[in-house]
Amino acid sequence: MDCIFCKIINKEVPTDFIYEDDFVSVFKDIKPSAPIHYLIVPKEHIQSITHLQSNHQQIISKMIFTAKMLAEKLGLKGYKLVFNVGREGGQIIDHLHLHLLGGWENGPGKIDI
Ligand code: AMP
Ligand code: ZN
Repeated sequence: MDCIFCKIINKEVPTDFIYEDDFVSVFKDIKPSAPIHYLIVPKEHIQSITHLQSNHQQIISKMIFTAKMLAEKLGLKGYKLVFNVGREGGQIIDHLHLHLLGGWENGPGKIDI
């Protein structure tokens, strides 16, 4: 399958890795929209939130708890978690991912994500 995020997860394409475990990989967004902009990506190829099935509940939970863990490690008091869903929702990469955005000094202002 020609999926850039699968290639990153499988280390076929180099990237700035932040974290990984059995369920998720986390790496820096190549075009950051915030001082901290990480992508939390399940190792299983799932296209989007639309394509979730009931057996994916643990994966979604892992993604959100990974975001919380990293935000705590980074000392972020506040942050944004964003899922873009489908082209109409701004999703460009068809492999499910959660954006973790933060690190602003005075709040996020207007960001386009
Ligand atoms: P979305 O619009 O929700 O599909 O977001 C996809 C994100 O992936 C965008 O913020 C891109 O900047 C980011 N992105 C695309 N290609 C790469 C890559 N090779 N490494 C890291 N981030 C990427
Ligand atoms: Zn994929």
